[in-house]
Amino acid sequence: MTIAIMGAMPEEIAPILEAVGKYNTSEYAGNTYYEASYKGVNLVIAYSKIGKVFSTLTAATLCEHFGAQKLLFSGVAGAISHDLKVGDLIVATKLAQHDLDITAFGHPFGYVPEGAVFIDSDSEMRKLAHEVAEDMGKSLQEGVIATGDQFVADEERKNWIGETFGADALEMEGASVAVVCDALNVPFFILRAISDAADMDASFSFDEFLETSAVESAAFVMKMVDKLVSK
Ligand code: SAH
Repeated sequence: MTIAIMGAMPEEIAPILEAVGKYNTSEYAGNTYYEASYKGVNLVIAYSKIGKVFSTLTAATLCEHFGAQKLLFSGVAGAISHDLKVGDLIVATKLAQHDLDITAFGHPFGYVPEGAVFIDSDSEMRKLAHEVAEDMGKSLQEGVIATGDQFVADEERKNWIGETFGADALEMEGASVAVVCDALNVPFFILRAISDAADMDASFSFDEFLETSAVESAAFVMKMVDKLVSK
């Protein structure tokens, strides 16, 4: 069994590499991939660089080149829901691209023909996540995550995304990873720890909390891997 763990930025996978300890490194299509054998399974770990295009490339590479059979994403996000504070964890039930717009042709936001506005994440791994949260004594929220090629630091844009997609959090990679995994039939799990509130203070909050929130998310994802391995 090969399990992929991906993030967008080095800070998001650093705690995972630390937890794994020993790994081999290879280069592919402009990114570094870290392969490790861990508790009887193969792990392949990478950060994609920021945004939908780079994350698409990395997710596809993890599945098609490295043969990942499951993919777990660990990272940080901006909160839309008032219930989410810095450091809180949210697991995506479904994901949408908030910046995909051919509404001029009468289509809804986030839709292109032969696509879907929302892609559902794997329900089995979401179920496992609740067991993990209970084991860790952590609270875990589920919700819709909206993705776009935009760091949102604006109350109005954030509220629009919240209202249009019913989204609870936003970031820049989740939905593109979802599209790739859905197309390739690879079950996926997207976890984010909140780094900011996507408002006018977002960039300051992000810089302050990126590392601690990334560690929160990574610790949870490693527990998910432990759970998957033990099943
Ligand atoms: N500080 C970085 C840029 C970070 S972009 C630099 O200068 O290089 C924000 C990253 O964190 C993206 O990978 C995105 O997925 C996530 N993210 C966190 N808060 C976000 C927000 N408010 N809007 C969009 N993405 C956000």
